[in-house]
Amino acid sequence: MNNEKTAANNPAPYWATKVPGVDRQFDLTKREEEMAYYEAKAGKEIRELKKYFLENKATVYLIGPKNSGKGTYTKKFQEIFGAGFIDHISIGDLVRDRDEVVQNPEKLEAFKQELRLGGVAQSEDDIEEMVTALKSRDVKTLLPTKCVLALTELAISGTDRADKTLFIDGFPRDTGQLSNIQELRALINRRDDDDVLVIIDIPENVIDARIRDRRICPQCHESRNVRLLPTTKVGFDKATNEFFLICDNPNCSGPKMAAKEGDENGLGAQRERYEGDMALIASAMELDGVNRIVLQNSIPIGQAGKYADDYEITPGFYYELGENNEVVMTKKPWQFKNNQGFDVYSFMPAPVVLTLIRELYKIFKPKIDNLD
Ligand SMILES: [Zn+2]
Repeated sequence: MNNEKTAANNPAPYWATKVPGVDRQFDLTKREEEMAYYEAKAGKEIRELKKYFLENKATVYLIGPKNSGKGTYTKKFQEIFGAGFIDHISIGDLVRDRDEVVQNPEKLEAFKQELRLGGVAQSEDDIEEMVTALKSRDVKTLLPTKCVLALTELAISGTDRADKTLFIDGFPRDTGQLSNIQELRALINRRDDDDVLVIIDIPENVIDARIRDRRICPQCHESRNVRLLPTTKVGFDKATNEFFLICDNPNCSGPKMAAKEGDENGLGAQRERYEGDMALIASAMELDGVNRIVLQNSIPIGQAGKYADDYEITPGFYYELGENNEVVMTKKPWQFKNNQGFDVYSFMPAPVVLTLIRELYKIFKPKIDNLD
């Protein structure tokens, strides 16, 4: 990575999302309001970054646990900046896209030919090794780095992605792969472009709640969350003593939503992976001479009043039975403990994206200042 000067671009606190002079409230659950929010809080940064990304490109590596919001943040970033010069690559999707290919003899032969022409496979043995890894992959083992590099190269080289700023989600996946970033740069002809590590620091209780409290409509498959994103209709089941969501999708008949099997274990089933991801984050924090942005999903409750606006805090929804057995819903900031045991609130996605914009701007400011 080639920008030594920004090695120290880690000023705390990251969660200072309050902007002096921006006093109006934004309803961040509405898209237009969310866009007005970015404009109010980072309009200048967005315009200057847009100008910069028109002529320049960067590679942004998203490092964070599964369910930490990488896809959400990238999508929002693309909405703000336009898909024309920002693209997103999910390594998980690239791998799944090849599932069918490696099972189909004709498509497999074409794929092998692509690998021969690419820059990663050195020999027929290499190609066989990659194909075998793809055929026998499971969720527990990481694909060989060689294989991930090859798929990424094929997804970028010779496509219109080659000229865009890329957000890469899913590489590096472990400490070993962190040192392969240089190799990937060379493969996709980005030796001279900047890369940025975006580290998403998220308490395990957030991920746990996203899984444990998730409810799915059995009919239209709409996904909601009984604590964080309820529907407008909530019922109470006397037998199980549980409040439940009723689907309110206008195109659906509105059945009771249910938890997916296994979701009741929350983070439990993914704990090993979460811990691996956190170890990768720790390594990424130690790297010298890299452009690094840390996005914090949470804010200590004692700091929230000073550094954040109320509407930026994720609300939690709480239920009780009223006098006539009707469900009474209360909305108040969702409070939980972070990994260190401190009481924190969680940020809505928009303030996290705001921090991403502002930190990217800081990294590229010297180059923006040199634009004609
Ligand atoms: Zn439904």
